[in-house]
Amino acid sequence: MTTDAILTDQPLDVVILGAGISGIGAAHYLTTEHPGKAFAILESRDSIGGTWDLFRYPGIRSDSDLNTFGYEFKPWRDPQAIADAPRILDYLHEAVADDRLESKIAFRRRAVAADWSEADQLWTLTVRHTDTGETSTVRTRWVFAGTGYYNYDEGFTPEFAGRESFTGQVVHPQHWPEDLDYAGKKVVVIGSGATAVTLVPSMAGEAEHVTMLQRTPTYVIPLPREDMIANVLKKTLGAERGYKLSRRKNILQQKFVYQFCQRFPGAARKVIRGTNAALLPRDFDLDTHFNPPYNPWDQRLCVVPDGDLFKALRAGSASIETGRIKRFVENGIELESGELIEADIIVTATGLNLQLFGGMELRRDGEPIDLTETVAYRGVMLSTVPNWVLAIGYTNSSWTLKIGLICEYFCRMLTHMDENSYTSVRAIPPTGMQTRPLLDFGAGYVKRALDRLPVQGTTAPWTMTMAVSADVKQLRKGEVVDDCLQYTSAETTVTESVA
Ligand SMILES: Cc1cc2nc3c(=O)[nH]c(=O)nc-3n(C[C@H](O)[C@H](O)[C@H](O)COP(=O)(O)OP(=O)(O)OC[C@H]3O[C@@H](n4cnc5c(N)ncnc54)[C@H](O)[C@@H]3O)c2cc1C
Repeated sequence: MTTDAILTDQPLDVVILGAGISGIGAAHYLTTEHPGKAFAILESRDSIGGTWDLFRYPGIRSDSDLNTFGYEFKPWRDPQAIADAPRILDYLHEAVADDRLESKIAFRRRAVAADWSEADQLWTLTVRHTDTGETSTVRTRWVFAGTGYYNYDEGFTPEFAGRESFTGQVVHPQHWPEDLDYAGKKVVVIGSGATAVTLVPSMAGEAEHVTMLQRTPTYVIPLPREDMIANVLKKTLGAERGYKLSRRKNILQQKFVYQFCQRFPGAARKVIRGTNAALLPRDFDLDTHFNPPYNPWDQRLCVVPDGDLFKALRAGSASIETGRIKRFVENGIELESGELIEADIIVTATGLNLQLFGGMELRRDGEPIDLTETVAYRGVMLSTVPNWVLAIGYTNSSWTLKIGLICEYFCRMLTHMDENSYTSVRAIPPTGMQTRPLLDFGAGYVKRALDRLPVQGTTAPWTMTMAVSADVKQLRKGEVVDDCLQYTSAETTVTESVA
């Protein structure tokens, strides 16, 4: 069946937005748990993979281990646990082939608006064809928004004074020029997050010198690129069982590290500092460059596979400067301290612009839905928005661990609705409920966007849980019926209780 045959005038059961790791995962769960449902995936780009296809900078890789970032249903077989983007893309292409999803994906179709009709109990999506500029509409009972969490069109770059006076090239990692030649050049990478620590060692071999220019240091920890235990388990027990066990081991490991950092920040700081010191020259200024002003895991830790960043620093092909930028000048960057860092190329690894649903407008019977007034329900739905799944993964662990559980919950909800002939479900928050920001995470890109995002409550089921064990309880094992969920059938509205 071709995509055009799927996107007919007939309403679909589910439209999945986005063919990234979340959307492809959701399609697997629908295919296996609800083989009778008609669904399609709308993808605004012309290929699958989302993040892992969009970002093309040197060294682009995960910082999660793929034994937890991979799908629960599909073993990760590659020996690299911290894997580069091409390997992740191969895995995603395989997942698409395994479930024969090719004909379900409509490429170059960007959903720009969605309007819920109470009378029809359907969403009408306005879809822009990104190749021709035409628009069309698609009707669907459900939307699974696997749209990621940032603006695809534009990365975040702060205003830098004097930018126009710099005579070299300025590049953002989200828009990496295919032909960028940095061999023998002086490169300054502005930033200290996961992207910066990936770029610096990857460019260091070829560039004349790479300087990582950070305003604030980040916690950086070395991890083996290959997970020896996982690889041995897969070899001896077979891919399926070995993967299952490795996944469990790594979930526990992540939980332990996160909780240790949260409970014993002082000790965690010491351990990280000791690890850094062991990998750097004796006279390296750890206090300036590797001593963040916040506690470990108040922001995401940066992982460097096999300590590659430290190797580049030791070799002298890369260095770190910590300071505030005063302005760009003709031949580089002047710091507030007066120091000049020379550059032929400046890479602004300054982050993302957070955005939900690719910037879509949501309406109910033509009335705009203000997302900032909605509250996340179990991290799966938004209050008062019917038949709409929000696919936001973990920020303190592998994103996909949460997405898999969201998909399980969603499929169970569909089963419940089919069994009871319900046509919609929405979450209704108790009046006067206290709320707080959607994400409790100190990263700059999160802080910049909080006032444009939905909120969460302070107690279950209105919280964005960031713990696998809690989500297993509520999303895999918990009821899909509670006092906050209002199910509707064509004739009636029912609020069901667990009791
Ligand atoms: C450089 C980088 C590295 C990362 N590394 C990790 C990591 O190691 N571990 C981790 O857990 N997380 C990581 N993340 C977070 C990462 O984005 C997620 O883990 C994961 O890839 C998100 O997958 P997704 O499918 O939900 O979204 P995305 O990968 O963002 O894919 C969303 C897809 O939806 C499409 N889309 C968006 N809006 C619309 C629309 N309105 N209509 C149609 N299509 C639409 C987009 O074109 C895109 O293809 C990283 C993020 C970045 C930027």
